[in-house]
Amino acid sequence: MRRYLALLVSMLIATVAQANDSSASATSKPIKPAAKESRDKEESGSSDKKDSKKSAKESKETKESKEALQPDELAAKIAEKLAVIRKDKEEATRAAPRPVVRPAYSQVRRTEPAKAKEPEHGSAAVVAAMGGHGAVHWSYQGETGPQNWGKMNPANAKCDSGDRQSPIDIRDGIKVDLEPIMFDYKLSGFNVIDNGHTIQVNPAAGNYITVMGKSYELAQFHFHKPSEERISGKSFEMVVHLVHKDIDGRLAVIAILLERGKAHSVIQQVWNNLPLEKNEAMTALTALDLNLLLPVKREYYTYMGSLTTPPCSEGVLWMVMKEPVEISHEQLAIFSRLYPMNARPIQKTSGRLIKESN
Ligand SMILES: [Zn+2]
Repeated sequence: MRRYLALLVSMLIATVAQANDSSASATSKPIKPAAKESRDKEESGSSDKKDSKKSAKESKETKESKEALQPDELAAKIAEKLAVIRKDKEEATRAAPRPVVRPAYSQVRRTEPAKAKEPEHGSAAVVAAMGGHGAVHWSYQGETGPQNWGKMNPANAKCDSGDRQSPIDIRDGIKVDLEPIMFDYKLSGFNVIDNGHTIQVNPAAGNYITVMGKSYELAQFHFHKPSEERISGKSFEMVVHLVHKDIDGRLAVIAILLERGKAHSVIQQVWNNLPLEKNEAMTALTALDLNLLLPVKREYYTYMGSLTTPPCSEGVLWMVMKEPVEISHEQLAIFSRLYPMNARPIQKTSGRLIKESN
């Protein structure tokens, strides 16, 4: 009986190890898993490490319980565990289809509530691909500027070859009754990070939008100066991009244009928490009311585009609010000292359909 038990346990360990191997190879490229559980796993650091810890723990539990159980019961228990493990792996594999880049700030120690989030700004993959230590830094000017993003790394190929790239000059939209975007934003803790390309805010989880019957959670928001998008040729002082993600990892970005006017309380709150060092998140002691960031009127333009930073991945649903909100001269000047110009040039529309609210 002892041998029988030992055999079962070793089979279990072998199967778990195999399952972990296949998971490791499946996730050796940065992948955006869709299931929330696996997303959390990735965000919390090395998923492989965590998996092997988990399997070690499981096999320990099995060993501990073998004294107490009859062989039949033990066999049934092992079969049940294997089924669960297999199912988890299958779900993770099935749900992990779209390549996404791990954010630069995943390399730094994150503080709550930085439960964030793959980003629009993903220099980490570029850096990682080049052997780390910031070997390649994309930028907005010169040799590492937008004209060369696609050449700097094969992972950025879409920056050159894509035909659904952002930003665009939004014009000649088809006016229809666009359904309103449902905002479910709540008072949220947040942290702020200067990732070397922009100032990014990572809010606590639990902020959602619903559009076209789909729910997306706010992952982060960040700023560009001047606005990346143009409206019939007109550029704005700045823009905020609110990056949301649905359960399958698809992105929906809401752009809020900023024009010069009176001071904005939410932006002031972000500026108040600017970190002193790059890539080190500064956790705010106050909470953000993200509803205050939204314009009063909620009409918008919508089109399909891409991330506006490497790797320029496409399939991003863009919604650009028609009504700009105001930011003061002093607030503009603060961002300008950090990032005087961090906007990708306008990309070809290539016959894309643009819809706009009536
Ligand atoms: Zn952006």
